[in-house]
Amino acid sequence: MRIKNKKNGLFIILSSPSGAGKTTIAKKLLKNNKNIELSISYTTRKKRPLEKNKKDYKFISEGEFTKLKKKKYFLEWAKVFNNYYGTSFLQVQKINNKGKDVLFDIDWQGSKKIKRKLGKDVVSIFILPPSKKELVKRLKKRAQDPDHIVRERLSFYKMELSHWKEYKYVLVNKSLNETVKKINSIIETERIIKQKKDLILKKIRNL
Ligand code: 5GP
Repeated sequence: MRIKNKKNGLFIILSSPSGAGKTTIAKKLLKNNKNIELSISYTTRKKRPLEKNKKDYKFISEGEFTKLKKKKYFLEWAKVFNNYYGTSFLQVQKINNKGKDVLFDIDWQGSKKIKRKLGKDVVSIFILPPSKKELVKRLKKRAQDPDHIVRERLSFYKMELSHWKEYKYVLVNKSLNETVKKINSIIETERIIKQKKDLILKKIRNL
């Protein structure tokens, strides 16, 4: 199945090592930008105390995940830190049909697959923490994960970090407001570039 981008929306990917602040950034971005909607992923991970089902994730069992996978329900899926995560094809198509941009809060594996499937309309952004010390602080401050989970996530840090080259934009998240501002400018610029490209394509077809 393919996403038909009839209304010419963008597909915005946000990735980062765990604890770099990506989910907070995504929330702020969505609050101030009514033309962007979040793709709410399915996951087999346990719900954190402050998370809400169907708002942060759709929390499902491994059995349910396997069933959906078999039905080809996911636009992409991946195993991240021993849990499964997947993007709903249908939800992405619905957001796109409304003429809105889709925001994906996904890892590097998902990013590769989305880029392959949605190609030229993808804007990929990688968020870096200002330092490893700050990342450890944020992971601990979140205090929603037990210690062994925090340790597990830290052990993946270098590997996750190594994927920065696969993204079009790389930002250091020193201050939340500044990072969100930069992402807003990136999105605005990418919208203009896309409109221009589409106009040129239309013109060329008629020449
Ligand atoms: P967390 O468990 O901290 O919410 O997320 C762990 C990692 O999984 C994060 O990097 C997050 O962006 C990624 N992730 C969340 N949803 C998806 C998804 O649907 N697909 C993929 N590939 N990664 C996801």
